[in-house]
Amino acid sequence: MMKTIHDSSLDEWFLNRTSTSQTAYKQAVGAAVNTVQTQFSSLEKPMSGVQADFLSSLLREDTICPEEGLHLDTVLYEVGQKVLGHSVAVHHPACVAHLHCPPLIPALAGEVMVSATNQSMDSWDQSPAATLLEERMIQWLSRTFGLSPQGDGVFTSGGTQSNFMGLLLARDHYAWTRFGWNVQKRGLPPEAREMRILCSEAAHFTVKQSAALLGLGEDAVVTVKTDERHRIHLDDLDQQLSQLYGDGLHPFAIVATAGTTDFGSIDPLPELVSRAHALGLWLHVDAAYGGALILSNSYKERLQGIEAAHSITVDFHKLFYQPISCGAFLVNDVKHFNRIKQNADYLNSTEDEELGIPNLVGKSIQTTRRFDALKLYISLRTLGRAQFASMIEKTINTATATAQMIAKDQRLEVINPVPELNAVVFRFIPEMNHPDMPYSKWQDQINHEIRHALLASGDVVLANTKVNGNVCLKLTLLNPRTTLEDTHAILDRVKKTGKRRELQKGEWNQHASNIGSASYHAELL
Ligand SMILES: *Cc1c(COP(=O)(O)O)cnc(C)c1O
Repeated sequence: MMKTIHDSSLDEWFLNRTSTSQTAYKQAVGAAVNTVQTQFSSLEKPMSGVQADFLSSLLREDTICPEEGLHLDTVLYEVGQKVLGHSVAVHHPACVAHLHCPPLIPALAGEVMVSATNQSMDSWDQSPAATLLEERMIQWLSRTFGLSPQGDGVFTSGGTQSNFMGLLLARDHYAWTRFGWNVQKRGLPPEAREMRILCSEAAHFTVKQSAALLGLGEDAVVTVKTDERHRIHLDDLDQQLSQLYGDGLHPFAIVATAGTTDFGSIDPLPELVSRAHALGLWLHVDAAYGGALILSNSYKERLQGIEAAHSITVDFHKLFYQPISCGAFLVNDVKHFNRIKQNADYLNSTEDEELGIPNLVGKSIQTTRRFDALKLYISLRTLGRAQFASMIEKTINTATATAQMIAKDQRLEVINPVPELNAVVFRFIPEMNHPDMPYSKWQDQINHEIRHALLASGDVVLANTKVNGNVCLKLTLLNPRTTLEDTHAILDRVKKTGKRRELQKGEWNQHASNIGSASYHAELL
């Protein structure tokens, strides 16, 4: 061991083997835990309902970096009051807007280790055991999703990055195999303007975003109609494909969605696999939302076909209940990463690679990267597959029963009577007409207002979406602790709020310009 002279002056700021440092660490993390606990023990609503202008006055720019620092306890207390107190409580059963999950407690313990050890996943000398554990996790994922033994992948910041990587590899693979063109070296091929990606109109917006970032442009994405269950319409797909080939264009990838954001619909994967294989297209499956079904013996057959995809997106910060961020990108053959690989002499030199030293930087578009695999590892080991599966199944059952409840209600209309996953889309039905508005517009408006009023009250956090141009409300029931009693109470609030608004319609014109303001909501509630 090397002898060093210990400079103790910074022990209170950095972890090391001294007791000063360890005490400081325990106190700091303990104080943060206490602040969180205080927050949770007084938590009644998913949102404080505070208005943006008030919050904005609480958080002042000129106090951020004082000349002399404050005591950590003071800072944490303040953060508890001003920030945590006005954060959305994703753990609350009435927080049901987005694909935004309550994180598992074992994963939170994992986060402590991830941050304290601060491994960086780009090179072996920055993350030896972490590199190997991430590799094992990827092997487990590959096997679980049924990929071939050449399957590989990498942890990502989430679905946006994973979808981008899928289309990046698809683009480069096509340019190379079809035109003998190396995009990494030469940039886009002359045929780039003719390259096309197909996905359903319910696919995630990041498919278009990726096409734009990849230099192909959003117009390179051809959207296919959906069927009555919001899945890609195969006849329309076939028609669009023959049109593209007829026009001399170059379709090169199909993006299938396994769990659409609004309805949780799963595209017919086996049918897409057979088309992709017959036509030599890359099949990317965006399973950001639905990928977790693979853990459930009752539901995993819905993902059948995914094993034949070229690449897969799976998010762990959704139905795997991980703290943000945590996702993975999987590919059916490790060799595809060669199209984007970089060798940096300081990270993964060719000499190191010849020695067989594993470095994950070549598989990622990130360089410095968090050890997010650890929290998922800890969660899977602690809960086990069966517990994960039962939580996921529970959310699907709650969603199904909630949809049935809505279907029976005269004042509500369910848009997806049989939820494919755990999202339920519905609308309030106003009974009275509006004096100066067509009924459909009035219905849109009242549904919009219901969401805003509930948000401003802080009692329920619901989402809005549009279906065939109509404003709808959405419950995304990711939280296994949200029960049927909770959804019943939420629907009650929706109806009460809608009815109250209906009764005020005579005064509508007077108030229309005040929507969103505090006084308007105070009046409403
Ligand atoms: C959430 C989601 C994404 C985006 O993933 P992020 O983790 O938010 O980057 C992409 N596709 C689908 C289907 C999603 O649900």
